[in-house]
Amino acid sequence: MDLGIAGRKAIVCAASKGLGRACAMSLAREGVDVVISARTVGPLEATADEIRRATGVRVVTVASDITTEAGRAAVLAACPDPDILINNAGGPPPGDFREWTRDHWIAAVDANMFTPIELIRLTVDAMIQRGFGRIVNITSSSVKAPIEVLGLSNGARSGLTGFVAGIARKTVKHNVTINNLLPGPFDTDRMRSNFYHIAQVQGITVDEAREIRRKQNPSGRLGDPAEFGDACAFLCSAQMGYVTGQNFLMDGGAYPGTY
Ligand code: NAD
Repeated sequence: MDLGIAGRKAIVCAASKGLGRACAMSLAREGVDVVISARTVGPLEATADEIRRATGVRVVTVASDITTEAGRAAVLAACPDPDILINNAGGPPPGDFREWTRDHWIAAVDANMFTPIELIRLTVDAMIQRGFGRIVNITSSSVKAPIEVLGLSNGARSGLTGFVAGIARKTVKHNVTINNLLPGPFDTDRMRSNFYHIAQVQGITVDEAREIRRKQNPSGRLGDPAEFGDACAFLCSAQMGYVTGQNFLMDGGAYPGTY
């Protein structure tokens, strides 16, 4: 299927690795020029080269912290008028809520709630004027089913989800959609660091923690980031203009609810 987005411009935040990288690759395969951001130059440039070699699209890199005002400004300076915005940032650390101070909460809200809201604010009106926009926020399955050790994520991402629900119905008549893509367990660096935490807490090895998680999932495996990237590209397609304000769970069937 031709997704009808060749020649469009996308910002993909936090995209040197993992799910952000996969989204950038899938969009690039559809002929979308991408601006990708991450904090560290080396992995960011390596990813940019891989995307260029695989797809031939224009890839611009911005080495900045997307959770800061300067970081967001640098990304927007590289792509002031994106047709597609993929919001992403590192997730908050796991832990016990009794140990979290205001600073922990502010950092989590900054990264996983305020940053996407701010990038939406700074890009959505121009999308509306141009009559096309696709915004996808990478959130988490924790929005539907909280993960005990990820209380900072459960809370901050739920705030973003509530905000998006409120505005996504206002933009769709201009062919600007805003949706959330909710990863369950995907095989990325982030997931590997979670296994490390679980292994420490439960007194097991990292491999054992991974094996338990794999077997727990109805699919019997962890998700492949490439699957996530392709779903993201489809959400950004011309065909998806009638879908907004939705939360798409990709978790191998782990969420047990009927709805
Ligand atoms: P990852 O660690 O594999 O990759 C994260 C990417 O974001 C890297 O490129 C990193 O450089 C970049 N990054 C992190 N903080 C940044 C910042 N402040 N500014 C710019 N770039 C930044 O992580 P991932 O697994 O791809 O996860 C992406 C998001 O999805 C995270 O918020 C994570 O919590 C969430 N998530 C992941 C899973 C999973 O199974 N992988 C599940 C649920 C939620």
